[in-house]
Amino acid sequence: MDPLTEEEVLTSFKGEREDDVPLPDLTNIPWDDLDYLGWVHPSGHLGYVVIVSPDDGGIKGTILRRGRFDGSKPGLEMCSLCHHVHRPNGTAMFTITHKNAERRHSIGNIVCKDLDCSLRIRNLVQPASYLNETLYPEAKIWRMQMALHRWLRTANRL
Ligand SMILES: [Zn+2]
Repeated sequence: MDPLTEEEVLTSFKGEREDDVPLPDLTNIPWDDLDYLGWVHPSGHLGYVVIVSPDDGGIKGTILRRGRFDGSKPGLEMCSLCHHVHRPNGTAMFTITHKNAERRHSIGNIVCKDLDCSLRIRNLVQPASYLNETLYPEAKIWRMQMALHRWLRTANRL
């Protein structure tokens, strides 16, 4: 994705209830390897996702609740966005509230706990996925973007 400025990132969260969005160091971001900008609050309870909307090209920020994913049994966990297969504790449950206040429900997904799907698809983070997929990186990227867009669109956040 194209590099974003601090102002662009902050503006993308306008209208959200949480007004203190702790920005990551944007000078250290590998923008060329990212499909979305994602980071986690130091407290671990919130996550942040910024994408360029495929609908209108606008920069859209979404705040996500981050909870522990307690799978019913210990074992492998798969990110629902990038399909990276983690050993236990590699994923977290992220939930987004619907933007329309009258429909105040949230929509959750199991996602890489550090919101670093883009780097995992490109094999830039260790350890590699437990399950080796014979898909081209381009296909993985496309699949991940589709899943992310579907999620955000369902919550009326694209
Ligand atoms: Zn992922």
